[in-house]
Amino acid sequence: MTIRIYCERCGFIFYRGDELTNPQEIIKKYGGKCPRCYKPLQLNPKNIKIMGVEEGK
Ligand SMILES: [Zn+2]
Repeated sequence: MTIRIYCERCGFIFYRGDELTNPQEIIKKYGGKCPRCYKPLQLNPKNIKIMGVEEGK
């Protein structure tokens, strides 16, 4: 299982990998917003994604 955490607006990838990571740590690392489009980050715990959108949609 590959985990992706990315911005749904611009597609900026915050994290991608097989290891389960803590999304809250990533959000904090980036100061709570996307560095590319400045969209505020919101955690979606169900999908382990930030404002997740399924790949291949
Ligand atoms: Zn963005």
